Amino acid sequence: MTVPIYGDDMITLLHSTAEELAELEFRFGTTQTAVVDDLIEDSCWSGEPSLEPYLGGKGSAEQRLQALRAALAADDKNSADKSTEWQVSMSQASKLAELGEECPICGGTGQWPGLQGFVACKPCGGAGSKVPTSTIPNSIPN
Ligand SMILES: [Zn+2]
Repeated sequence: MTVPIYGDDMITLLHSTAEELAELEFRFGTTQTAVVDDLIEDSCWSGEPSLEPYLGGKGSAEQRLQALRAALAADDKNSADKSTEWQVSMSQASKLAELGEECPICGGTGQWPGLQGFVACKPCGGAGSKVPTSTIPNSIPN
């Protein structure tokens, strides 16, 4: 961390328009370019594949800013998609639970959020429902 500000203030600077930039840079005591450099060169964003071409001070200030903005936008979209996906899973779980058909392991969601994205429930194969009785060896077909 080489700039004197964190998270939200950095994002504010990154998304500021040319008109408000001077005032914001004065208020935060750092520059947009410094924030871009810090995030690309020395943060958890440094490993981001779309930013790799800019590592080591490569690209113009404008190119670096645009690349970082794009990476942040993609990450925001990814988070929103995950949240939507989880809501769908929860809704499926409550429907299955109402019917008494929910998988006892995942509770009907079929998956759960893990560090590397969603983890599918193995016992129900991600379906969220109890294993169909037809697959239990001792069941008698109708
Ligand atoms: Zn399950």
